[in-house]
Amino acid sequence: MSFVVMLNQWLTKGFDLEECKANLNSLSLANKGQVEWVPGHKAIKGNERADYQARKGYEYVPLTPDPICGISLSHAKRHIKKIAESKTGLLWRNTRGMEQSKMFLKGPCPKRSNCLLNMDRGILRWVTGLYTGHSQLNKHLYKMRLIESPICRFCRKEEETAYHIICRCDVVARTRFLIFGKDRILDPKLCETVDPYTVSRFAKAIGLF
Ligand SMILES: [Zn+2]
Repeated sequence: MSFVVMLNQWLTKGFDLEECKANLNSLSLANKGQVEWVPGHKAIKGNERADYQARKGYEYVPLTPDPICGISLSHAKRHIKKIAESKTGLLWRNTRGMEQSKMFLKGPCPKRSNCLLNMDRGILRWVTGLYTGHSQLNKHLYKMRLIESPICRFCRKEEETAYHIICRCDVVARTRFLIFGKDRILDPKLCETVDPYTVSRFAKAIGLF
């Protein structure tokens, strides 16, 4: 019954209903007829014929790459998004290099990307530098032969890498605790759960920029 009501509506939703209306409209060009609801399984000739055709359609094995039933746009979008995320994650894990970034981040994350893209460019430079290791930290500058020592400016004990600064350096432990809730971050992957703004707040609080 509801299908007959839907057919009667001016606006149709769904590919199947749209196709059904188009077929009916095309038939009505050379024929005169009307659509009405009839009770099922009461030996009504037209209804029995429709049941037979439906059974025949159900038993038919399609030999086509197209889906036998139309799928909604939102379902298709969701599916494509899932495939894209899975392939990007695979690429992230299988691509060589990026050790520093992989230490902090499990993989691409649209929410984090949005957050980074909305940042002030100066702060963004520092945060991406901390995630990737390509920053103004002593270890990186030393590797580029711009300074004479890679040692941490705060504790003077270990090399000044992003891992040392974000996760380990004792001198900034109090600030780390106030901002991250931990005085030492044993697993750098925990940074994955922290948004980039918090990383930038930490970098600013210890005077990196
Ligand atoms: Zn240190």
